[in-house]
Amino acid sequence: MPAPLLHIETGQDLPASADAVVIGGGIVGVSAAYYLARRGLKVALVEKGRIGAEQSSRNWGWCRQQNRDARELPIATRSLDLWQALAGEIGLDPGFRRCGLLYLSNDEAEIAGWARWRDFARTQGVTTHMLSAAEAGERGQATGRAWKGGVFSPSDGIADPERAAPVIARGVAKFGGSVHQLCAARGLELEAGRVAGVVTEAGTVRTRTVVLAGGAWASSFCHQLGIRFPQASIRSSILSIGPGADGPDALHTARVSLTRRGDGGYTLAVSGNARVDPTPQQLRFARYFLPMFAKRFRVLAPGGLEGLRSGHETLARWRLDRPTPMERMRVLDPAPDRRMIRDTLVRARELLPALAGIPVTAEWAGYIDSTPDGVPAIGETTVPGLILAAGFSGHGFGIGPGAGHMIADIITGAAPIVDPAPYRPARLDRSSWGKVSDF
Ligand SMILES: Cc1cc2nc3c(=O)[nH]c(=O)nc-3n(C[C@H](O)[C@H](O)[C@H](O)COP(=O)(O)OP(=O)(O)OC[C@H]3O[C@@H](n4cnc5c(N)ncnc54)[C@H](O)[C@@H]3O)c2cc1C
Repeated sequence: MPAPLLHIETGQDLPASADAVVIGGGIVGVSAAYYLARRGLKVALVEKGRIGAEQSSRNWGWCRQQNRDARELPIATRSLDLWQALAGEIGLDPGFRRCGLLYLSNDEAEIAGWARWRDFARTQGVTTHMLSAAEAGERGQATGRAWKGGVFSPSDGIADPERAAPVIARGVAKFGGSVHQLCAARGLELEAGRVAGVVTEAGTVRTRTVVLAGGAWASSFCHQLGIRFPQASIRSSILSIGPGADGPDALHTARVSLTRRGDGGYTLAVSGNARVDPTPQQLRFARYFLPMFAKRFRVLAPGGLEGLRSGHETLARWRLDRPTPMERMRVLDPAPDRRMIRDTLVRARELLPALAGIPVTAEWAGYIDSTPDGVPAIGETTVPGLILAAGFSGHGFGIGPGAGHMIADIITGAAPIVDPAPYRPARLDRSSWGKVSDF
């Protein structure tokens, strides 16, 4: 049972030329194409599989400022406003609502960490409420247990991963862009070292500007061009259950987290828990990721051969006149970790007794692509005209609209919606010790 996804139909011919080509139809790619189209650019979006079918439909749907690293907080804040505007602009609902996010804990160190973040957030104009034990008990009433404390972030929200990327892709078409599914970009044509076109399996599009929003495939694509982009993916497993239980819209605890879905059911997952499937690319970049693994090793477990089978982290070079690994793996759909799924369900039913007896509707896994410091890489690469937007490190769904807007700003020369400096890919050439994001 794969992650639910709204399938959209797209049948236009690939244009011979475009002002910009966006590679990848996840939340980042569709958002970049959307804001480019809204500015009147002729934009073509190419997606090797289905719009939204990889990470962007496999996530929890949290759009949060809460606990965000200082480098990402501004884009998270701006993204929430953009999320809110999308339904009105497009005329279709991506399922966003500012329902607030609830965090509950019995661990004093964790609560103290949230309080420190609250103090920092205040300096940035972001309001979040620390909850006393009584308030936590009241907000977490559905759990039927006592809590030492918690935090509630009223201006945060959730969007619907099943609908969001497809709805924004419809928005691309509404504002004059073209969207092409089952259309892998195999590589770039360069002239005098700069981008001159995108070679796809359906033909070449002439363009001087390319956005590479290829999610977990971005580094292997960069490798073809001699660009070193340290990126690694971990496999996270998750499940959904049907409607029928009352409870909070979005609740995080250290043992398990719950998110109410658009259909009234819940998505269940354990924050941070994931498997590391070894791949050639991971070995290549292992030293870059040591600081990250040192910080997070407790929640990561060794995986298996899924990564090799998937092919997204290959170091092979491919030709542009033959099918590539992207065409062999239209949708990256790794096997979920059965034990993790079972544990998650048990923990969720312990946390929210009303979930007992509600049947599981789907189980899936997704590869979460990360950079060594846990902050996305967004900006022009060493190949002029090629803008990288990948490595969203488990936060890309919520900040996708802001990232897409910023990319459109960079391309059109508009004042950027937030300072792009923290995201520059070139920072990844340096060590990440001391720079790994906290959350
Ligand atoms: C289990 C899980 C839970 C998560 N929870 C959250 C959350 O609650 N909140 C949050 O903000 N984030 C969350 N995330 C992270 C978030 O889902 C990702 O950061 C985000 O979706 C990344 O978007 P993207 O567009 O960069 O990549 P993707 O959604 O992976 O899209 C990349 C697309 O590019 C396409 N592609 C790649 N190469 C090519 C090519 N050469 N040609 C054509 N197409 C190509 C792929 O087919 C794919 O569709 C979670 C992720 C997972 C897996």
